[in-house]
Amino acid sequence: MKFFNIILFFILNFYAYPSISSNNFNLVPIEISDNVFVIIGDNENISIENGGAISNTGFIIGDNYILVIDAGPSYIYASNVIDIIKSFSDLPIQYLVVTHHHADHSFGISRYLEIDVEIIIAPAELKRYLKYGHRSLKQIKALIGEDWLLDTKINSFEYKVKEYPISLNLGNRNISIELFEKGHSDGDLIIKDKNSNILFVGDLIFNGRAPTVPHANINNWKNYIDIISKRDWNYLIPGHGNIIKNKNELLPTKNWITFIDKTAKEASIKGVSALEIFNEGLPDFIKKYKLAKETWYRDLPILIDKYEFD
Ligand SMILES: [Zn+2]
Repeated sequence: MKFFNIILFFILNFYAYPSISSNNFNLVPIEISDNVFVIIGDNENISIENGGAISNTGFIIGDNYILVIDAGPSYIYASNVIDIIKSFSDLPIQYLVVTHHHADHSFGISRYLEIDVEIIIAPAELKRYLKYGHRSLKQIKALIGEDWLLDTKINSFEYKVKEYPISLNLGNRNISIELFEKGHSDGDLIIKDKNSNILFVGDLIFNGRAPTVPHANINNWKNYIDIISKRDWNYLIPGHGNIIKNKNELLPTKNWITFIDKTAKEASIKGVSALEIFNEGLPDFIKKYKLAKETWYRDLPILIDKYEFD
């Protein structure tokens, strides 16, 4: 069934997008369990080649409603995802859960608002999306060009304040949504599909690449990874990288954030600058991570600054 769906989608996609254009994301839905899908992003930095589609998107189809997990990086990306969903089901997309405000997870929101979807996002992250979204959108346009971000807007919208955990019923399909405050972001949402025992954890876990920490509280984040690790789940969908089956695969995220945090704290206590640390070369411990260099150079100075002002 899974493979059949993928093949069917390729056929539909081929006719819908006969030529390769700069706006073609080539998204491939994978059915992990009955009616639970994930589209794995390009496990890289945002680039002109991937159009910002670097994080994972999920969707879950119940008997009455569909729930989408993360809006992706742009209006066009979200449109493509909606087309894919429509190729599987005519049911309404009732909910969009945005795990946190970072652009690669949230900038498709404007597309979902056009089809009257209820947006679920932590209040603190909605604030950040509205406050920093315009600036971030400008930066990404400068980086990868306007075409990829055509019609992408930062919209305010009617927002229902929720009490977490949230329980939703998609029709013979129960979903729970939990809020993990001040971890990778100010408000990370994790989504569990109870029928399949699959957990979507957003950027609390990065698989196969260095995690990014610009808005993180690393102490809380480490605790959250321990909590997630102790939970019972069949599959875990990280914010970036492949589907996870084995709990050991949560460790690289925890080890990286522990290491960069310790390095930054020691540097701020000793008055050592990021540049001095960079001059010593990339530490052996982190060399094995994909995107280690870029992430290390970008995030370490931010963390050192943060601890100097703490
Ligand atoms: Zn993020």
